[in-house]
Amino acid sequence: MSKLSIKDLQLSNKRVFMRVDFNVPLDENGRVTDDTRIRETLPTIEYALRHGARLILCSHLGRPKGKPNPKMSLKPVAERLRVLLDHVMGPSENVGFSPDCIGAQAVEMSKQLEKGQALLLENVRFHAEEEKNDEAFSKQLAMLAEIYVNDAFGSAHRAHSSTVGITRFMEKSAAGLLMQKELEYLGKALSHPQHPFVAILGGAKVSDKIGVIQNLMTKVDAIIIGGGMAYTFLKAQGQEIGKSLFEADKLDLAKQLLADAKARNLKFLLPVDHVVADKFDAQAHPEQIGEGQPIPADKMALDIGPKTVELFSAEIAKARTIVWNGPMGVFEFEHFARGTRAIAKAVAGNAGATSIVGGGDSVAAVHDAGVADKITHISTGGGASLEFLEGKKLPGVEALTNK
Ligand code: AMP
Repeated sequence: MSKLSIKDLQLSNKRVFMRVDFNVPLDENGRVTDDTRIRETLPTIEYALRHGARLILCSHLGRPKGKPNPKMSLKPVAERLRVLLDHVMGPSENVGFSPDCIGAQAVEMSKQLEKGQALLLENVRFHAEEEKNDEAFSKQLAMLAEIYVNDAFGSAHRAHSSTVGITRFMEKSAAGLLMQKELEYLGKALSHPQHPFVAILGGAKVSDKIGVIQNLMTKVDAIIIGGGMAYTFLKAQGQEIGKSLFEADKLDLAKQLLADAKARNLKFLLPVDHVVADKFDAQAHPEQIGEGQPIPADKMALDIGPKTVELFSAEIAKARTIVWNGPMGVFEFEHFARGTRAIAKAVAGNAGATSIVGGGDSVAAVHDAGVADKITHISTGGGASLEFLEGKKLPGVEALTNK
């Protein structure tokens, strides 16, 4: 990687400002209901503390729209972090909590930190300036430390004060271990993939993934499209899609992409059979539409059928690199989750491939299918990983110091 890593830094006794992704769900009583994101960044926190950093942790939580909101306070996260750190480092000093991420008190608390101690700042998005990448606000954040580390891959596609602005006022800015892992896996898949390289894309809309399809088409050997977005392509091929999801304004583009794939001699696999229903509803009765059969005008496809699972799985089994983003059907409804789960199993079943899964639903599917441990890399940033796959530069990564 051409950017500095936390491992390149001399951390001992330095005040280190670490941007993390502690955007975790809280229940009505303010308790953390899923601490996956905290645990994922724990190795970087542990690394910094063991190397004698005086650690200042900064994150956003939810969308408080630039105003303090007690329901989105990071205070419960400090408590959970204490428990998790106790596990990995043994009973340690308390993790401090600063009720504001800037100001005299935060500066004072940062100065009082001793080597190996941590301080969590209150939600950085309680200030509207954060999302504006405001210079004065960035400077105020920068007063808390000398060195900057970004481990929040999930926020790296945003140019905010805590991801970009602050780096201008720091001695050095480096990637944390989680950020580094994300960049290595995604970067390698795009720049030096082992072939065959198969991309699996799903989800609701073609419009959300055009950039990804276009960029990946120049790199992959096969592209597999499932989920709602497949039906605009099937319509472009002249098939009957009934009431299935359809983006009329993307029809010409779908035709163009199909023609491009053909010109490139690239496999472009679409569903050949379907599970349909008469309405978009968890209780709707699932019905199979066999291979080559049209989808009736009053039905909508909500999952891929068994033949499609076979077809896609056979292609996935041949791959050496797999990138998957987006579900194959309405995974939230039990009756229509089968296709997505089967694809999760197919991806996990290819032990010889480097498999990378991103996006909330596909990540949920590999957990749900009990195969998460067989995936090479599960990306923590939905939006950021999509922008990376589109070939865009992530501002939060660009801002880090070059090696
Ligand atoms: P995305 O956020 O673009 O990855 O899309 C995820 C959403 O796509 C999920 O909420 C799914 O329910 C939805 N989805 C997947 N397949 C279909 C389909 N065939 N029809 C309607 N929605 C779908």
